[in-house]
Amino acid sequence: MKPFVYTAQAARVVFGAGSLARLREEIERVGARRALVLSTAGQRASAERVADMLGPAAAGIFARAVMHVPVETAREAREVARSLNADCAVAIGGGSTTGLGKAIALDSGLPIVAIPTTYAGSEMTPIYGITEGGLKKTGRDAKVLPRTVIYDPQLTLGLPNTLSVTSGINAIAHAAEGLYSVDGNPIMDLMAQEGIAAFARSLPAIEADPADIEARSNALYGAWLCGTVLGNVGMALHHKLCHTLGGSFNLPHAETHTVVLPHALAYNAPAAPEAMQRIARALGVADAAQGAFDLAQRNGAPTALRDIGMAAGDVDRACEIALQNQYPNPRPLERDAIRQLLQDAFEGRRPS
Ligand code: NAD
Repeated sequence: MKPFVYTAQAARVVFGAGSLARLREEIERVGARRALVLSTAGQRASAERVADMLGPAAAGIFARAVMHVPVETAREAREVARSLNADCAVAIGGGSTTGLGKAIALDSGLPIVAIPTTYAGSEMTPIYGITEGGLKKTGRDAKVLPRTVIYDPQLTLGLPNTLSVTSGINAIAHAAEGLYSVDGNPIMDLMAQEGIAAFARSLPAIEADPADIEARSNALYGAWLCGTVLGNVGMALHHKLCHTLGGSFNLPHAETHTVVLPHALAYNAPAAPEAMQRIARALGVADAAQGAFDLAQRNGAPTALRDIGMAAGDVDRACEIALQNQYPNPRPLERDAIRQLLQDAFEGRRPS
C-alpha cells in the first residue's frame, strides 16, 4: 500500500428528506442570531422560504448570486452582510451560491451554513473562487469550509433533468480524479467509489422520474461523497481542462465537466489502470471512459463541446492555455494527445 496523509475536515452534515426543518436549530448551534440568506435570483423563492423559517434570526436576503463569483458581486454581498450586522451566511443553491458565501466568509470569517440544491459539491470544500477582469482566481482557506451542511433531497426535486445529469457527472469527475490523485488516500478512495456508484444508480432513475425521492436522496448522498473527495485530494488534467474551458470560453460548468470527463479518462487510462478499474466497477461497466460517455448520452446530457457554445477556432487556444502550467497528472501532458483529446470532446466522439 502506498503511504498517505489524511486530515479530517470538520463539517457537520445533516442529511435527509425534510432536514431543512432543522435549519433554525443548526443556526443556533453555530452561535448565530442574524443570518444573511443567499441565493440566485432564480431561487429567490427558496431564500424567502428559508428567511421565513428563521423568523427573527434572518437578517436579510441577498438573491444576486451568479456563476463564478464576480468580484463586484462579492463586494456587494460583503457590504450587505456588514450593514445588516449578519453573523452567519446561509447559502441555499448550487455551487454559485455556496461560492458567494465563501467570498463573504473569506473576508469576514462568518460561518456558512450551506443548503446545496445541486450536486456540484462546493459545500464540502475549503476551495473558493473569485473572478476579476475575466480571470477566476481560486485558493484554499479553512475558513470558507461551511460549518454545517444540510442535505435535503426534497429541495432537489425541481432540479431540471439536464442539470441533474450534468451536475451528477460533475460530481463523478471529482471522485474519478480523486482515485488517481497524487495525494489520494484509502478513505477518499472508498468515498469516491461509493459516490460514483450512487450516481450510476440514481441518475437513470431521476431521468425516468425526477420526483423519485429515493433516487434524489442517493444522488445527494453521492454529491456529499464526491464533494468530500474534491475537498481532500488534488485534482488533475480533467479539472484543469474544465477550468480553462469555463474561464476562458465561458462554457457552462456542469455541462463542460460532462463532455470532457470521458476524454480525460481515456487520456489517463494507460497511466492509471487500477483507478480506471475502480471507476468502471463503480459505474457497473467494462470501461471507465466509455461508461462516463454512455451515462451522459443515455440520460440526455450533451456530449460535444460544439453543442455547448465552443467555437471550432477555440480548440487550439484551449490547448495552449491548458499546457501553460505543469501540474500532477498520471500521464505526462503531451501536446499532440491533449490537442486530440480536445478535438474528440469538441466533436463528441465516444472514446474507443
Ligand atoms: P449553479 O450554482 O450556477 O446553478 C445553476 C442554476 O441552477 C442556477 O440558476 C441555480 O439557481 C439553479 N438551481 C440550482 N439548484 C436548483 C434546484 N434544485 N432547482 C432549480 N434550479 C436550481 O451551478 P453549479 O453547477 O451547482 O455550480 C457551478 C459553480 O460552482 C461554478 O462556478 C463552479 O466553479 C463552482 N464550484 C466550486 C466548487 C468549489 O469547491 N469551490 C466545487 C464545485 C463547483
